[in-house]
Amino acid sequence: LPNRALSISMALKPHAVITPFPLQGHINSFLKLAKVLHFKGFHITYVNTEHNHKRLLNSRGAQALDGLPDFCFETIPDGLPPSDASDAERFRSLCDSMQNNSLVPFKNLIKSLTKLAHDGVVPPVTCLISDGVMTFTMNAAQEFGLPVALYWPASTVSFLGVVHFRTLLDNGVIPLKDESCLTNGYLDTELDWLPGMKNMRLKDIPSFVRVTDSNEFVLNFLITEAQRAQKAQAIIFNTFEEFESDALKALSSMFPPLYSIGPLPLLLAQIPQHDHHLLESIGSNLWKEETQCLNWLQHQEPNSVIYVNFGSLVVMSPEQLHEFAWGLANSKKHFLWIIRPNIVEGGSMILSPEFLNETKDRGFIANWCEQEKVLNHPSIGGFLTHCGWNSMTESICEGVPMACWPWVGDQQTNCRYACREWEIGIEIENNVKREEVEKLVNELMEGDKGKKMRQKVLEWKIIAEDDTKPGGSSYINLENLIKDVLVKTR
Ligand code: UDP
Repeated sequence: LPNRALSISMALKPHAVITPFPLQGHINSFLKLAKVLHFKGFHITYVNTEHNHKRLLNSRGAQALDGLPDFCFETIPDGLPPSDASDAERFRSLCDSMQNNSLVPFKNLIKSLTKLAHDGVVPPVTCLISDGVMTFTMNAAQEFGLPVALYWPASTVSFLGVVHFRTLLDNGVIPLKDESCLTNGYLDTELDWLPGMKNMRLKDIPSFVRVTDSNEFVLNFLITEAQRAQKAQAIIFNTFEEFESDALKALSSMFPPLYSIGPLPLLLAQIPQHDHHLLESIGSNLWKEETQCLNWLQHQEPNSVIYVNFGSLVVMSPEQLHEFAWGLANSKKHFLWIIRPNIVEGGSMILSPEFLNETKDRGFIANWCEQEKVLNHPSIGGFLTHCGWNSMTESICEGVPMACWPWVGDQQTNCRYACREWEIGIEIENNVKREEVEKLVNELMEGDKGKKMRQKVLEWKIIAEDDTKPGGSSYINLENLIKDVLVKTR
């Protein structure tokens, strides 16, 4: 048993159980939040699915999941049979399965933590921080008398978009009449009447609305999750007030207190070196990070490299991969292209020998990288991205403008805002053609528009830095979240 002094200090420490939805973007973002709270004095229990825990062991090795005495990893099953299917393929069944199967193991986990707390091994659990699409954890919160904060690790406008799914159904905008609506211009329908959103077209709303059946599972799953979020004690966003003020304002009248505490990479950057160092070994990348690309970047001129990465979920056709390849080759720019092993439909990730030969002196290709270190490198001048929210916020934190090729979910909404409202992105047509890639990459890297976007993204970066410093809105919101929700005894 721990000694008495230790037990007393343990009993006083707040203890957050942090449960992300098991996708790469979610677990990365939740890990940042967990690290910030750890630095603020919390004992952390970070809950992965068994499936992802195994993947992390493969990609990072056992020591990366040892954690620290007050930063522990636990697992719950996702309820699905073992499978090598990609995360995009598993998404629908994961939502379904976790909602139906994960509550009991989650409650058992809280019970076992309660027992450990009773034995003085960990501090008593004081709060739950759960993914916005894992509201089943609220049942456990109620049973154990714990406050629950839901964290939505995507943009606030995308959450508002989800909240408006119901409005779109009620107004007959969705479901689509039939599949032809996907290509006949119907998606261009203007929705400028949606409260809190600007210049929206149907195609800018999170893509789960592109259904012909109002009973479609994911659409209804998200509608229900957003409704249930009204019962949480708090909703947390990885954003900053000036950036998404209209959406935050529109949501504040419908939901419990909202806390915009981002961008998290900048909050995290404020953790002093020593503590940062301790936490650095704890990572969450599900693919093995290849570090050689950082050496390659060392030999490139400042602002000369276009970084291309479509995140963890995007799947493209072999033709699309080919168009991107030749667009990059013809742009004559130096590029770092991360091609995830399962990014191409059917798994045929084959780049032609002509392309490889043509670009051998100015291109570097890898499977996965440490993205934030890449974006931080002075040689990076632009980011060709799918507009995942983490990628976009990481790019803003490093002052890198973007070329946007959104694929699914919130990416369309993020892209529209990046190009239209925030003026930090230019969009590449979904039906990607090499000529357009070449033109937009050149525009981004050296055109007038690129210069303006670089200027603008640096302005946003400064605002974000101010917001995350002591006295800034995100900093204060985090303090209030801790004081008013996470350590408040009920
Ligand atoms: N990421 C990374 N290396 C890569 C690709 C992605 O570290 O080669 C990280 C990236 O920094 C981000 C996350 O994976 O934190 C991807 O999340 P995002 O929301 O951008 O997109 P998603 O993968 O969810 O579509």
